[in-house]
Amino acid sequence: MPELPEVEVVRRGLERWVSGRIVADVQVLHPRAVRRHIAGGEDFGARLKGHRIGLPQRRGKYLWLPLADQPSAVLAHLGMSGQLLVQPEDAPDEKHLRIRVRFDDTLNTELRFVDQRTFGGLSLHTTTPEGLPDVIAHIARDPLDPQFDDAAFHEALRRRRTTIKRALLDQSLISGVGNIYADEALWRSRLHYERPTTGFTRPRTAELLGHVRDVLYEALTAGGTSFDSLYVNVNGESGYFDRSLDAYGREGEPCRRCGTAIRRRPWMNRSSYFCPRCQRVPRVAS
Ligand SMILES: [Zn+2]
Repeated sequence: MPELPEVEVVRRGLERWVSGRIVADVQVLHPRAVRRHIAGGEDFGARLKGHRIGLPQRRGKYLWLPLADQPSAVLAHLGMSGQLLVQPEDAPDEKHLRIRVRFDDTLNTELRFVDQRTFGGLSLHTTTPEGLPDVIAHIARDPLDPQFDDAAFHEALRRRRTTIKRALLDQSLISGVGNIYADEALWRSRLHYERPTTGFTRPRTAELLGHVRDVLYEALTAGGTSFDSLYVNVNGESGYFDRSLDAYGREGEPCRRCGTAIRRRPWMNRSSYFCPRCQRVPRVAS
């Protein structure tokens, strides 16, 4: 699944290539791709037709295209392998093309939703007064959002009887921090993933948030990264970027700070990578 930086790269591509264009028609080539649009593919297309696409928005890993003239938005579910491509109208169809959106202009490009594994899709939703599709109204702001409230996040951390990595992946507290970026930020902060959050001080929370933002910005600067080679950004370039990671995926390799072998532990059906020397196991587990 693409993480925040990859989704932001796609959002920027859509902003450049799709924003402001009026939908001429929508072709749904596979019903699964619109299964989250309860009224079905025909209704989905009919509701888009004639409407102008507004400025593409993102919160955490969620991406949506607001319709400029009404309180609704197309939410993109990229799933494991979903891609949004802007292609010349005469480009041959991709093998796994699911939805085609044509525009009412002379740019001769169209928006395509391509998905090999059909976990993803597009759906139209009413937006909240804040401009979010209603189905994701509960998702917290992400740490790159200028309105993210650091102090409120710190207070929430202290109130919750949880551990730090669980908190970082809790979309109701902070959105857009996936497993990879959580492990990287924790390594930089020298924090073990099971450290209870109740004892966090303000400076500790501030340092951690700083590292979270750094790893996300660095990935964004690198053009987004993904470990799924199927993932392609909106211009059709591969989003895959062989980036240097300090913790994630480095089991048995030396910690870049102290040389100790990085360890991997099963964690909530995933893995946690950490340096056993720099990131000490907390004495009291919560
Ligand atoms: Zn170390």
